[in-house]
Amino acid sequence: MRGLQAKERSQVVEINSKVCKGCDSCKTFCPADAIAGKYGAVHKIDAEKCINCGQCLVNCPFGAPQDVVDPVDTVIEKLKSGECTVVATVAPAVRVAIGEEFGMTTGSLVTEKLYGALNKAGFKILDTNLTADQTIMEEGMELIAKIRHYVVEEPAQEDHLGPLPQYTSCCPAWIKFAEANYPQIIPHLSSAKSPMMMAGSLAKTYGAKEVWKTGPESIYMVGIMPCTAKKFEASRPEFSSAADYWTKHGQPGNYPDVDTVLTTRDLARLFKILRIDLNTVEEYDGHNDPLSAYSGAGTIFGNTGGVMEAALRTAYFVITGKELDILPFEPVRGLKGVKEASVKMTDSKTGKEIILKVAVAHGIKENVVPLIEQTVDGKSPYHFIEVMNCPGGCVNGGGQPINPMGTSWIDKYKAILPWN
Ligand code: SF4
Ligand code: SF4
Repeated sequence: MRGLQAKERSQVVEINSKVCKGCDSCKTFCPADAIAGKYGAVHKIDAEKCINCGQCLVNCPFGAPQDVVDPVDTVIEKLKSGECTVVATVAPAVRVAIGEEFGMTTGSLVTEKLYGALNKAGFKILDTNLTADQTIMEEGMELIAKIRHYVVEEPAQEDHLGPLPQYTSCCPAWIKFAEANYPQIIPHLSSAKSPMMMAGSLAKTYGAKEVWKTGPESIYMVGIMPCTAKKFEASRPEFSSAADYWTKHGQPGNYPDVDTVLTTRDLARLFKILRIDLNTVEEYDGHNDPLSAYSGAGTIFGNTGGVMEAALRTAYFVITGKELDILPFEPVRGLKGVKEASVKMTDSKTGKEIILKVAVAHGIKENVVPLIEQTVDGKSPYHFIEVMNCPGGCVNGGGQPINPMGTSWIDKYKAILPWN
């Protein structure tokens, strides 16, 4: 564990009382009922209930909720000091959003330009898509072990196998919600770390030794995320795998896996302070950064259904020895924002036929809570459930550029959006 002084952040988003008009908009977007205040009066966030998702921030018409964790100046100091290797791990949803902050069309994919700008600023790059692949392998293998035990009825190979259905664990807002409101669901959460946290431990172990040839404490790890809740996740004291690893190997230390997090908005501000323009910067393909290679599976992580599909493909391949074709997702009747699919497969080891039922949900209050209650009552028909807090997944996270229409436009256009 990272020493006793390590402390979880209590709050990432606060409402500026001088700006709040008491219009109640934020309350309608808050998945955790964390905002209090009468109509017309200044509103306040209850830090205990808040899951740090930033949906109030991207949807308030007056800009009153604000991200109060601002590490931009510190990261610039680290880049300029030359005293450490500053490594950026870039989430998939950032590269389709940051162009907007530089006048490009919404949704422009700017991976090489973003890499170019990071390179120019002095960052080394560890693409989060690479560690999304690791998360998928971990979640997929964990699911396979549970299927083999509970569905195929083989003796368990591991003594700490959690129950089915398995819930995904990469959204820190969802995890805080589950811990605070439904602790009975915790054994169902995948034990796999999120791609950002995997990136932190990879950078400060393998990356430090084999790639950047430096000590783990000389790496300053920056998560570049579409999400305000990632600032909370990085501060959780249990995320100290690299320090634990090196301590066991005779190099005691006390440091976090991820030192700080910049949202997409923060990163755009950092580039602007450093006078780096994404429109004109020289593109870079990451060829000098061996940890920037990844598969297509990691890329779909930022949409709802992405984690599920990637993990399921891995599980299907390991169980049957064949590639999975198209996953036929159907909306679940009575629940807007929940989709389900069934996959039939034959276990290549035992010849037993398995029908795996999976669900994908976003929108905690209206969609996820009914799924949790079904699970708690022992009536869930599913084996695997993907949960993302934000509408449509991390692409609409609370750290993305602020659209004047917030994220409320998504409901109106649901039928034609790619994740439906
Ligand atoms: Fe609610 Fe999310 Fe805002 Fe917290 S950050 S008050 S959970 S909308
Ligand atoms: Fe963050 Fe993605 Fe979860 Fe939204 S869905 S809170 S962006 S991890």
